[in-house]
Amino acid sequence: MAEAAACNAAGIPEATDASEATSPAEVTGESDGTAEGGSGEQEKIVIESNKIERAKFEFPYTSRVLTAVNVHADSESDSEVLGILEENAEVTVERNIEGWEQFSFDGKTGYVLKKYLIPDQYVAMNNQFLESPVDISWIDPSKPMIALTFDDGPKAEVTNRILDSIQNNGGHVTFFMQGSRVVGENNDCVKRMVELGCELGNHTYTHNYLDSIALDDIRTVIRECDYMVEETVKAAPTVFRPPGGNRTAEINAKVGELGLPMIIWSVDTLDYSTKDPDNTIKVVLEQAKDGDIVLMHDTYAETATAAEYLIPALQEKGFQLVTVSEMAKAKGYDMVPGSEVYNMRG
Ligand SMILES: [Zn+2]
Repeated sequence: MAEAAACNAAGIPEATDASEATSPAEVTGESDGTAEGGSGEQEKIVIESNKIERAKFEFPYTSRVLTAVNVHADSESDSEVLGILEENAEVTVERNIEGWEQFSFDGKTGYVLKKYLIPDQYVAMNNQFLESPVDISWIDPSKPMIALTFDDGPKAEVTNRILDSIQNNGGHVTFFMQGSRVVGENNDCVKRMVELGCELGNHTYTHNYLDSIALDDIRTVIRECDYMVEETVKAAPTVFRPPGGNRTAEINAKVGELGLPMIIWSVDTLDYSTKDPDNTIKVVLEQAKDGDIVLMHDTYAETATAAEYLIPALQEKGFQLVTVSEMAKAKGYDMVPGSEVYNMRG
């Protein structure tokens, strides 16, 4: 699996560098401005295509800690720190105050930002891609199209360059994200993806290789990513790519039970290996044809450099840059849950 090399080199370790979530001392200092009654510093995002309200859970409910977090004495990031909740610890949430979940902690009342506590009952409300509305009115199905995909991010300094290019040149791309990276400044990248019509993709919580975890844990690592994204933009990812492309018939079946196909790729730029923008550009221009799915990684500056060239260049060559779901819809390609999708060539 070619992508495995990239991910070993840059996946999990890098997942920490933009993430306050890995440092208990800092995690609740983050104001992501997205939870109910958040800081208000973020623009309100209206997502027309995802107006499905998540079911409201009745208090009290059980939640699990996604990553080690500080427990605060009040629903404010600068309030006293009572202690640390370790990853996977269970708490019984009693109420929510402006984005902070309240629960009993060592005989006291403690608070943690909602984003870091995944309710046992959580179910992503809009990852049933087959039923989610995908607007293809801007696409001419008779003309060639390519789906550029970027894995392992978001990583603000790289992802934003790609999004800038989309903003300036038009087109849509798909981002297969690690849920654990949807924190801090990377939150804004995910909001921009939605605003610019790009597709949110699930790449598990911390780039979990599906062949190295129990089959029963596959649902967990996928829903953890859904949750981090949904808590940020009120929309869950609509497509899924297994980290490293790792898959077996059993894994595929498990992912299929969640209603998701396995989005693989037909053009591997090897961007993670060469870290050479010229090579990445050359591979895409020489190999990519109508219906192709192109693999890149928005964790390398060199990939952003290549994308900044390719996004206008491909469109000048007559390709429509579309998301995975847009391509499926425009081409009438049936993405079957649990099946592997490499391309959608004629
Ligand atoms: Zn990956």
